[in-house]
Amino acid sequence: MTAKVIDGKAFAAKVRAQVTEHVARLAEQNGIQPGLAVVLVGEDPASKVYVKNKHASTIEVGMASFEHRLDASTGEAELLALIDQLNADPKVHGILVQLPLPAHLNSELVINRIAPAKDVDGFHISNVGLLGTGQKSMVPCTPLGCLMMLRDHHGSLAGLNAVVVGRSNIVGKPMAQLLLGDSCTVTIAHSRTKDLAEVCKRADILVAAVGRPEMVTGDMVKPGATVIDVGINRIERDGKNKLVGDVHYESAAAVAGAITPVPGGVGPMTIACLLANTLTACCRANGLEEPK
Ligand code: NDP
Repeated sequence: MTAKVIDGKAFAAKVRAQVTEHVARLAEQNGIQPGLAVVLVGEDPASKVYVKNKHASTIEVGMASFEHRLDASTGEAELLALIDQLNADPKVHGILVQLPLPAHLNSELVINRIAPAKDVDGFHISNVGLLGTGQKSMVPCTPLGCLMMLRDHHGSLAGLNAVVVGRSNIVGKPMAQLLLGDSCTVTIAHSRTKDLAEVCKRADILVAAVGRPEMVTGDMVKPGATVIDVGINRIERDGKNKLVGDVHYESAAAVAGAITPVPGGVGPMTIACLLANTLTACCRANGLEEPK
């Protein structure tokens, strides 16, 4: 069997086109422009690339982008004051603090200072609680992108066995909540899971969010399963820098029914969902109908 490749790049382009259309309608009919503020503290090279991409994508869909680049030595009080200012700014509908923050800053404190309605990353404890109890919330972008691709591929996910490898607060746990919300039978695996291969092999839907290059191999995949690879790992192979996922693509694609590639799978969907969340936040803030 050769798996169908789930094209995240094409899907993300479709989502961005829908957002662009909606943003244009908001401007025309309501005179409103959604705005996203991104806060970057320090000089982490990967974070700088992410922030640059987010800025470009935000502008591209017609939203306002507010970038705040702060020195690595910025103190907690100064950062919290900036967040308070963004919380109060009616032009800002979404706020994202790029993680990781420098070690002297308390990420939890900072994230929980963002007004939950503007928390487009969905990391505020209120949004985590709302998602966990099946209520309307801001949903973390990466798992939301995975869910959208899964719904598109499967239609209904009800009754499917889903295994999520990884239990981080930003990917694994919210992914599991979303799959549960769609009536999957969900297992969360992690570094202490016994017999990981056997657990994975029961999955109709296998989501890998581990941060270990090519750890999930074809012998861990149930024939015909859908494999979602969240991993982004930079490795050196044959003297070249390469981007690989948490799934060993060739061996998994030989067994799976469908699979997301790296790059071009989950990654592009994450930014598209960030824009979709900002649009949703803007609509909610203005009492307007939310995008579907
Ligand atoms: P974390 O490091 O926060 O979490 C990794 C999880 O994997 C932990 O729960 C850990 O278990 C588990 N794990 C580690 N080793 C093993 C193992 N040998 N067997 C089973 N489980 C294991 O990572 P993130 O969730 O932040 O990210 C995961 C991956 O997704 C990374 O590659 C990251 O780059 C990528 N990512 C991609 C995004 C995108 O836009 N495409 C966005 C965010 C992340 P334990 O809890 O027991 O330690």
